[in-house]
Amino acid sequence: MTARWIRQALLRLDDYRNGDKRLSYLPEVERECALPRKELLSRQWDRLAKTLDLAYEQVPFYRKRFQEAGITPKSIQAPSDLPKIPFLTREDLRNHQSELMNSSIRPEDLIETATGGTTDSPVHLSLDRECLARRRACTLHFQQWWGAGLGDRVASLWGAEQDYPRTESFKSRVRGWALGRALYLQSSYLNDGIMQGYYKKLVEFRPKTIQAYPTPLYLFACFLEKNNLRLPIHSINVAAEYLYGYQREKIESVFSTRIYNWYGAREVGHIATECSIHQGMHLNCYGLYVEAVKDGKVVENEPGDLIFTDLFNRAMPIIRYRIGDLGVISARACACGSALPLLEELTGRSTDAFWKRDGSFTAGASFCGRIIKECQGIKQLQIIQKDFERFQLNVVKGASFREEEVEELKQRIGDFLHAQLTFDVVFVDEVLPEPSGKVIFCKSEVGRASIPDHEGGHTTSV
Ligand SMILES: [Zn+2]
Repeated sequence: MTARWIRQALLRLDDYRNGDKRLSYLPEVERECALPRKELLSRQWDRLAKTLDLAYEQVPFYRKRFQEAGITPKSIQAPSDLPKIPFLTREDLRNHQSELMNSSIRPEDLIETATGGTTDSPVHLSLDRECLARRRACTLHFQQWWGAGLGDRVASLWGAEQDYPRTESFKSRVRGWALGRALYLQSSYLNDGIMQGYYKKLVEFRPKTIQAYPTPLYLFACFLEKNNLRLPIHSINVAAEYLYGYQREKIESVFSTRIYNWYGAREVGHIATECSIHQGMHLNCYGLYVEAVKDGKVVENEPGDLIFTDLFNRAMPIIRYRIGDLGVISARACACGSALPLLEELTGRSTDAFWKRDGSFTAGASFCGRIIKECQGIKQLQIIQKDFERFQLNVVKGASFREEEVEELKQRIGDFLHAQLTFDVVFVDEVLPEPSGKVIFCKSEVGRASIPDHEGGHTTSV
């Protein structure tokens, strides 16, 4: 207990030195998230109204967009009025970056960031220091749901390298040891040898929590099971990819603990978190206003486009942002007692893994993110594994596209997968959704079942 207390005190000191006020906002987040539904939604609506006022008064993009739509913030008196405000799109973020900025925010209070670029090239984002502190307070609050507290050891089996510690200086390593206690394991490419190494590192590190993309963690769980290896873990949380039922079942069985699924996005922070009942994710009503919209109407209990309004970002207000994910929102009361509404299903994010004949795989989202970042002239890319060594690339050209980039792209994919591959390249205007409505940027038609067991493959049926 003493060591834990010291670590928490050091963390507070470190936050103070960095000007990070996340801990001062944490009690407010906790109080609000515990309010009864009516009061919770009323406060959320008040913050939404203030956000609309600020955007209209101080941000040229919204002033113009509201005027074009023939509305002012006063036109929005109830949730049913919200569809009067046009959606904000990723293209808007890309093309109207300067007009989306609030010039009254002091430069020293601005935090610059970018989207991860898992589905197309990254988009620049800004937020103010206070908004960042509130977002980090939300993350702290919801992490407690799966039992992770300040200073606990966390191992990440993660693909997005922008989430890794920025530097490996001596100071940062000491800080990581004393405060962060984090172990990052790159999940973009795995095979039995790599997973054996990760297992050894995890046994030494003794994490309380593992956070991971579902696909690599599922594979790691299969690896542990196949080799009769045990790894005691208090809690597991997953995000960034669709969590399939068979993955949850296997991971929970191998690690003998429950999975907590959560949903976040760089544009808006922590969105939703699974509770101890494990039947849907509770929405972060403190920091966000979330709608599911179908055919221009806000819907409940049926799939809709998920639309986000950030309630605290004054630097670059995000109002009615269509992120490209589909989900089902319900007002059902949850047995856990939380009054936060539920995101019952998140159906629009799906990635797949690319498989090799030896049973190793590369997780699609991080793979695609890495490749697309290197090829600036390509606006969107869909990679379809047709056979072990044959891929189809559906390429959407960007404004700065060069023909040579296709050859570079093939080279990079071949290098990354360590294989001789053949490619069918198809130029398309857009990456079309699947019949289910999902847009899938990485998919494999190979399937796990076609990998022979004797070659060390994972033959669990999907
Ligand atoms: Zn619940």
